[in-house]
Amino acid sequence: DDARYYDVLDLHGAPASPDDRSFNIFFDAGAWQGYSLPPVGDRATGFIGPFVHSLGDGQWVGTRFAQLVLSDAATHQAIALAPVESHAAPGYLVRRFSTPRLKVSQIFFFANSWHALAQVTLTASQAQDVDLGVEGRIFSSPSTRLAANGGEVVQTFTKAPSVLTTSLQTGGLGASHVTLSAVGYRIDLDKPLHLAANQSVTVYIDQTLVYDPRTDKPAAVDDTTAWQHNRERWAGYLHGVSNSHLAGVPEETAQRIAVKAMITLLGNWRAARGDLHHDGVIPSYSNPDFNGFWAWDSWKHAAALATFAPDLARDQIRAMFDYQAADGMVPDCIYLDKSNDNWRDSKPPLATWATLAVYRATGDKAFLGEMYDKLVRYHRWWFAKRDHAHDGLAEFGATDGTAIAAKWESGMDNAVRFDDIRMLKNGEGAWSMDQESADLNAYLYREKLDLAEIAQVLGKTDDHAHWLQQAAAMKQLIQTRLFDPAHGYFFDRKLDGGAFVRVYGSDGWAPLWAGAASAEQAKAVMQVMTDPQKFATFLPFPTLARDDTHFSPIKGYWRGPVWLDQAYFGVVALRNYGYASQADAMARDLLMHAKGLSEQAPTYENYDPLTGQGYQSRNFSWAAASYLMLLQGQGATK
Ligand code: BGC
Repeated sequence: DDARYYDVLDLHGAPASPDDRSFNIFFDAGAWQGYSLPPVGDRATGFIGPFVHSLGDGQWVGTRFAQLVLSDAATHQAIALAPVESHAAPGYLVRRFSTPRLKVSQIFFFANSWHALAQVTLTASQAQDVDLGVEGRIFSSPSTRLAANGGEVVQTFTKAPSVLTTSLQTGGLGASHVTLSAVGYRIDLDKPLHLAANQSVTVYIDQTLVYDPRTDKPAAVDDTTAWQHNRERWAGYLHGVSNSHLAGVPEETAQRIAVKAMITLLGNWRAARGDLHHDGVIPSYSNPDFNGFWAWDSWKHAAALATFAPDLARDQIRAMFDYQAADGMVPDCIYLDKSNDNWRDSKPPLATWATLAVYRATGDKAFLGEMYDKLVRYHRWWFAKRDHAHDGLAEFGATDGTAIAAKWESGMDNAVRFDDIRMLKNGEGAWSMDQESADLNAYLYREKLDLAEIAQVLGKTDDHAHWLQQAAAMKQLIQTRLFDPAHGYFFDRKLDGGAFVRVYGSDGWAPLWAGAASAEQAKAVMQVMTDPQKFATFLPFPTLARDDTHFSPIKGYWRGPVWLDQAYFGVVALRNYGYASQADAMARDLLMHAKGLSEQAPTYENYDPLTGQGYQSRNFSWAAASYLMLLQGQGATK
């Protein structure tokens, strides 16, 4: 049944240079090393890689892994294998080859976050003895070195203490020896391998990446059970795929997109290493700037992972909270090397929403217990450090007083509504923009309701009542202060003088997503959202209305392109207020009009609302998360 989800992404490619990110790479299990299928037409055995993501911004250190060298032991004639098929399947890469007398399959998969394995199975139609060797090639450069250590090949790097070890594991079929060259290595079995007629022989080529040998001591894996465990793990992920559907989208398309979304999120999974203390998901391995964990990205990843990879969902949340400051702040982003972490700002508050999504999917009360106080401290931080007027509505801001960091805090770095902001000092290391944002306050309102729900589950009756009371007061403020009745939309509002910042952006429907708007307000917002001149574009829900003079659909970043988190919130917003048919129509267009999504195209960071063309950061995690939530109806707020 695996063939059903073959090649949802195109995994073929060969790097032209160590930093080549022009094609897709397969990562799984949190590994920091990734591999691809050789280009179509490449007839040789083996795989491409590895790309070592933890080396600088990430680079290819190998060009070939597990290429077989087979010859007839009696005649010393090389055995020329002909390729039969080559596929990317969920959780593995597979290549098959044959000659009239021999079938060879190579299955590449990850045993865990350390070990990549190529399982090689030889099946002979007649008894024969073969000499077997495996070759690997590296990107030769002064910054990498190969050495032999017994039967193993050890690759080291001048840039980092990391060590990549390659070995041939035969399970008792015989010892092997290593030969090195300037461009690679070869590992040969000392003695010929005997193949009996119609009996398969399996060997493994293991490639283990140790990030820091001073602290990391990965255990050896049992090759013979690793594949079985991999299949069980992936069956667990794929179990819920059949729940993916959307009115107007063929079932097979919906399910292939759901699988692609899962593969994308799991492909960006990186295990705890260095200063990252829990596993998490990076925004996209295709973008060299995204080699870390970001706060609001993490919350969206966790909400989507909750239903199919709940352990990773929990760890993703923990990874960010490992860095919660004494005052409650969670930083913008964290890296392998914590000296790169960004403490100049935080990111929009969706952590409680994500935590609750994990609980809804798993029933895990202990996790709520673990998180509750941390979430409360983060929630309160916003009102302590980001409410300049002490009026119960917060502003985005920064710890360093800069406008750029305050814009980063919103997550919408260059949004038009922030073009004219000024910074206001609240206290030591605490600054606000001079405007109260509708999205931020909608998220905080939602957070109060979600904290109330968590308190209730935990039996904290007083807290439950407290949060509900606070939520009711805040709802009132959002409805009266952030809704502009003259224009029927939610806008940011200036602190000084109270003028609305009348920019129609995707932030204006956040109060509907949160359930903070009145029915009447929601109706007015729905009309704006479904207006083809504003947000009902070919690919719906741009971040800026189409008729805004600043609308830049192609590379405007947050000034026009569609970002899938905002679009997903838009669909939920409509559903929350009973606009089911509008929500269905928008959701369908989001799937069917994103160019190539139902074929092999990866998810992108953002898309052109007029053509559906994807731009920037291929294999973007929260786009995948949002698509999955659209298809599986999870993460809804009501
Ligand atoms: C986006 C942020 C996002 C970050 C990581 C930034 O460029 O504007 O919203 O959190 O990338 O994906």
